[in-house]
Amino acid sequence: MVNNNRKKDGSKFDDNKFKYIIYYAIAVTIVVFLINDYLVNTETEQIKYTDFLNMITQNQIKEVHFSKDRIVIYPKENTSYNNKVLYTGRFEEDKELPDKLNKANIPYDQVIPKQDGPFKNFMLNWVLPFIIFMALGRFLFGRLDKKMGSGVMSFGKNTAKIYAENETGVTFKDVAGQEEAKESLVEIIDFLHNTQKYSEIGAKLPKGALLVGPPGTGKTLLAKAVAGEAKVPFFSLSGSSFVEMFVGMGAARVRDLFEQAQEKAPCIIFIDEIDAIGKSRDGNITGNDEREQTLNQLLSEMDGFDSSKGVVILAATNRPEVLDKALLRPGRFDRRVIVDRPDLKGREEILKVHAKGVKLAKDVDLLDISKSTPGAVGADLANIINEAALRAVKNNRKEVIQEDLQEAVEVIIAGKEKKDRILSPKEKRSVAFHEVGHALVAALLTHTDPVHKITIVPRTMGALGYTMQVPDEEKYLVTKEEMFDQICVMLGGRAAEEVEFNTMSTGASNDIEKATETARNMVTIYGMTEKFDMMGLESMSNRYLDGRPVKNCSAETEAQIDEETLKIIKEGHKKAIDVLSKNRDLLTKVAERLLEKETIMGDEFMSLVKGEEASITGDNVENNENNESDDNLNNDTKLLE
Ligand code: ADP
Ligand code: MG
Ligand code: ZN
Repeated sequence: MVNNNRKKDGSKFDDNKFKYIIYYAIAVTIVVFLINDYLVNTETEQIKYTDFLNMITQNQIKEVHFSKDRIVIYPKENTSYNNKVLYTGRFEEDKELPDKLNKANIPYDQVIPKQDGPFKNFMLNWVLPFIIFMALGRFLFGRLDKKMGSGVMSFGKNTAKIYAENETGVTFKDVAGQEEAKESLVEIIDFLHNTQKYSEIGAKLPKGALLVGPPGTGKTLLAKAVAGEAKVPFFSLSGSSFVEMFVGMGAARVRDLFEQAQEKAPCIIFIDEIDAIGKSRDGNITGNDEREQTLNQLLSEMDGFDSSKGVVILAATNRPEVLDKALLRPGRFDRRVIVDRPDLKGREEILKVHAKGVKLAKDVDLLDISKSTPGAVGADLANIINEAALRAVKNNRKEVIQEDLQEAVEVIIAGKEKKDRILSPKEKRSVAFHEVGHALVAALLTHTDPVHKITIVPRTMGALGYTMQVPDEEKYLVTKEEMFDQICVMLGGRAAEEVEFNTMSTGASNDIEKATETARNMVTIYGMTEKFDMMGLESMSNRYLDGRPVKNCSAETEAQIDEETLKIIKEGHKKAIDVLSKNRDLLTKVAERLLEKETIMGDEFMSLVKGEEASITGDNVENNENNESDDNLNNDTKLLE
């Protein structure tokens, strides 16, 4: 059972509602009985048989009815009993009662039991209260529900309506840096605008488009923007909300959704996180019948509806490879719109979009921020702007300055600055040399990115210090030389510890992990070793999520891969030690400065390096052509701990 707790997912309340109704029914029934009882008790009053006899002799009785189990007495108007109806038990032993009544001239009779008794009773005691409470319940919950945003009596029915927005209010202006994606969606907007034009010619537009990309790149936003641009209603449901408590609910929802959407055509149906229902059905041992039913319903609805009416289905996922093949078939989600991580310009535009509502100082340079955030997605950038604004408020400033933004970048990338973690002087020294080791190797080798910042201010994420490298420009290709030099930079931290203190610390664990991964990728994915030439030994799965490599080779080869990887690492380690021991004075000088200032920015660092007569080791790695393209190789800001 999937029961996600998002509020917009109205179904969360369905099971609770059911409970409420039961409680409510019980309460109402009890109240009805109490009222009934109360009414009966106020109208009539029990008296003793002897009192009854006294009343006869005192001539206080108007009339008497004998019923099955009691004698009902109607007293005369001017008695102390007034208009109350009295009753007393039937005292069968008193055989003279009729005589007494005759003598007193009191009319009496035997009540004839009503024919419709049990039925009427049942109606009165059970059906009527039930109807009353249903009516009341509808009224009460209906009002409650308007606040919660879903319909109480609609188990599955009509629930899609809640997410319908007539105007999303989002336009393409709000989505920055996704020009290609927008371009491919323009056609859909035009189609929704002029359904007529297309159907006259007989052109069929794709029924659905699948937005694919990493989390936070703006897929949901883009879908809303399409609806906003086309000015059509927007029906949205998240995939996980289909897979629900009640069996068959998911399928029912899909049916509802399509029914309602077709009524409102032209419109857009958006299914977010479609992988929750659209997971491939084969190879799944722990089958989920509910999900399968939902998926089947979705497939048949997509086949069944007439796209010429102007209903377009958009769906979003960050795991296209797990989707069922049937979903990707022509006539269903046959179009894919890639919503990738934004590039330098895109990031700047996204920053601008989000900075609109924020007061910025004149000196703020968003391009600079964009430069130091390669790999960040729209959601990160929105976060950075907000974080910067918060920092400005915290420092009692009326506007956001560049420093706020820079700090925000680091908060997002490296966790909040933590000033209270105290390192012993010895540890601090070790960290300083370690970081300068990274930085110096980066500065002294040729195929590396410039150092942007070195710091030994600890961060909450666990790093005791770090060296940040920022590429001059966005790069999509990385050469073998660059990869190898990057490994040297990664190993430079430990190398510095060895050169300076002739010892090793645990501070290099993260570097080791990264370096090993890079070295292994050189061997297995990028074909950069002589031994394996251009043989692919691993492939990527889940490209848009975590990108786990899958081995494509025999166990023996694997052992050889390890050997090759180790060879690269040893080479890199040796080169790093080499560079640092040849520039030992410089290492000490920069490390001392870092110890003193805790943070050194790139410019200052470079002037320190250039001031010294740095002996740069000859780079004797041959130049191989390595033009293998891999657009996944986003040249990220490198953060070495
Ligand atoms: P996804 O659905 O791809 O995971 P969202 O559309 O939910 O991402 O994006 C989350 C938030 O990040 C948006 O509400 C928006 O504020 C911001 N965002 C993401 N991408 C962009 C973009 N390209 N332009 C502007 N803002 C963006
Ligand atoms: Mg989303
Ligand atoms: Zn390190």
